[in-house]
Amino acid sequence: MCKSDIHTLPTRRRFLQLTGTSAVGIAALSSQLLTTDVFASSKNDKSPPKPQNILTPQEALKHLMAGNARYVKGVARRHDFRHEREALEGGQNPYAALLSCADSRIAPEYAFDSARGDIFAVRIAGNFVTDDGLGSLEYAVAVLNAPLIMVLGHDSCGAIDAAVKAEKDNAKYPGQIQAIADALKPAVQQVLSQSGSLLDNAIRQNVVDNVGKLQSSSKILSDAVSQKKLMIVGGVYKLATGKVEMI
Ligand SMILES: [Zn+2]
Repeated sequence: MCKSDIHTLPTRRRFLQLTGTSAVGIAALSSQLLTTDVFASSKNDKSPPKPQNILTPQEALKHLMAGNARYVKGVARRHDFRHEREALEGGQNPYAALLSCADSRIAPEYAFDSARGDIFAVRIAGNFVTDDGLGSLEYAVAVLNAPLIMVLGHDSCGAIDAAVKAEKDNAKYPGQIQAIADALKPAVQQVLSQSGSLLDNAIRQNVVDNVGKLQSSSKILSDAVSQKKLMIVGGVYKLATGKVEMI
């Protein structure tokens, strides 16, 4: 048994428990997982590289928002990149996972004044749940023990705006951009009759919808929520101030 096996076996067991796999199915699934070596880099069971990241979901949210408050005020901490690098060479235990837009103006580590090893970020234009993104977030929770997921939208989102134009003006887009606009249209359609800015309302609705999707479409995530090991929340980043407003 190599060193990494010693560290990863308990994590694999917990993953199988979270997936609700029966004893009969464990051997087959375990073998399948071992062949992919998907957990090879997870060594955080015995000595997590960042003990300060072992938080309850409520503590993690408080920590995240305190980081955003520092960022808003311009009093972000100085990060010691060299020592962080050394600590994280052997594993990771982020205290939060994010599903955020790919927009270059939204930089999750900056926005929450966090360092490497703190935030497990899944990013896609329009911050919506895809199969691959869901798998990544399941990994963050089941294997890395992240206690918090935040779906993070932002104002002036170009992806949501594309969906608004697709809905209102039947706009067409080249390549796979159309697929993103189509995926985001349901959020637009839900708020067509609301007063106020259609774009702002759709941005908010898209966050609400994807928080709901994460809560309902994954047994791994819903089990973690019911066991109070995980909280899934939504927020909108305001470009003008840098403030994340919780939904
Ligand atoms: Zn965006």
